[in-house]
Amino acid sequence: MGEREVLLQGLSPLVARSLRYVAFDQLHERYGALADAIPADDIVVMIENEAMLSATPWHPERLYFYRSSARHFAQRLRERGFTVLFERAPSTAHGLRSVKERYPDVPLIACEPSSFRQRDRLAGLVDEMRPNDFFLTPRHVFEEWAGAQKSHVMENFYRLQRVRLNVLMTPEGPVGGAWNFDKENRLAPPKNYVWPEPLTFPRDDIDDAVALELEHTPSGAWATTREGALAQLTYFLIHHFATFGPYEDAMVTSSWSLHHSLLSPYLNNGLLHPQEVLDAALERFAHGDVPIASAEGFVRQIIGWREYVNAMYWWQGPDYQERNGLGATTPLLPLFDDASATKMNCLSSIVSDIDQRAWVHHIPRLMVLSNLALVAGVSPQEFLAWMRRRFIDAAEWVMVPNVIGMGVHADGGAMMTKPYAAGGAYIDRMSNYCKDCPYNPKLRTGDTACPFTTLYWDFLARHEAAFSKNHRMAQQMHGMRRLSDLDEVRQRATVVLRGLAQGTM
Ligand code: SF4
Repeated sequence: MGEREVLLQGLSPLVARSLRYVAFDQLHERYGALADAIPADDIVVMIENEAMLSATPWHPERLYFYRSSARHFAQRLRERGFTVLFERAPSTAHGLRSVKERYPDVPLIACEPSSFRQRDRLAGLVDEMRPNDFFLTPRHVFEEWAGAQKSHVMENFYRLQRVRLNVLMTPEGPVGGAWNFDKENRLAPPKNYVWPEPLTFPRDDIDDAVALELEHTPSGAWATTREGALAQLTYFLIHHFATFGPYEDAMVTSSWSLHHSLLSPYLNNGLLHPQEVLDAALERFAHGDVPIASAEGFVRQIIGWREYVNAMYWWQGPDYQERNGLGATTPLLPLFDDASATKMNCLSSIVSDIDQRAWVHHIPRLMVLSNLALVAGVSPQEFLAWMRRRFIDAAEWVMVPNVIGMGVHADGGAMMTKPYAAGGAYIDRMSNYCKDCPYNPKLRTGDTACPFTTLYWDFLARHEAAFSKNHRMAQQMHGMRRLSDLDEVRQRATVVLRGLAQGTM
């Protein structure tokens, strides 16, 4: 239908009470702009942003997921009797302006977007901007907490959340007698373990149409409907919840999903709300057969990390994403976009997994991808842009704190008290990557030294001045100073960095 596609049913703009703008990451009927919308009174507006296809080389799986989910959601609303204006426009602002020109007397209501940029773009276009309720923590709650803290450690915020939301609490304190079961939850992958198969989602006509437009063959790993998202939630609670905790940090080549919930895409595009995920998990825990370590580990992700990261995004402000506290300027390494540009088995496996499904779990993201960007001194902004492009759940609010604060420590320690730098020994302990790798995680010098191990020590030496006053880094800095072969390590690091830049390492 050309530049603009209008799918209008029923309700005349002459009698409409309001226009309700629904962003592609707010696809829920009970929250956001639709919370009090009524088919007989309100017209729904959705904009398919054409710039998304040309401005940034987004992972096609990500484009497919967002577009198909939005089109399914529009269809669901029409089936409920809503009039839906589903517009294709060069940008969201263009689309909204066009709608306002056609319906100048109908007020436009939106829910606050999830990024600074989009919030500013919409500010002059909408008549009413409602607070974003796709999270469990009102902005002022976090601001009151953060304003009273010397440091903004997630653990402290998480405990506040447990009490405030009354989750896994007894009158005496936390259920199980502890706030945190990390000791039970950070196990290496077991040998000869059979990981359950993840769900796959067959395509329907809408999916096929989107796939055809994008010239992309979807992986089948992701649902694009509310029903599919709920099926994934149920599947996780039945088949994975009890064993989620012990292996949540493990990485294996035999399973891409392990016991992870795979719910972040749906939480981040609105097909699931965190409250319903939390309620379902607590109900399942009440059956009595899910260990507290697993329940607590999962709850920590939902009411702790996810809420904390979102709140930190807003708390730190729009300039936070430009920070580069360690002065890292290495251009993005070719291996991030090309799994064949490295011999490192961990990286080639993980980048291949991302190519297929636009997803790997939090430990490959943090302890392999970000760890490499950190110790190799990759530009935080280039790495951030890459993470945003390549992951299905990579909303700006997620990736800015996760990369700038947590992944590459570019914020001078505002979010994390120490950088997540590690050598090959950590990856060897938590995965089976190293046994099929030409490099040796135990070696820091020589042609077969693991690049992580070499660069880890070189990173500490390079930033000695920055970290020497950080008492949480004292042990690592002491270890680095005691290396008898530090000069050799640093020479090897120059070879490694050159090889990484050339895609030959
Ligand atoms: Fe990765 Fe080093 Fe292990 Fe190879 S030896 S898989 S590069 S951690």
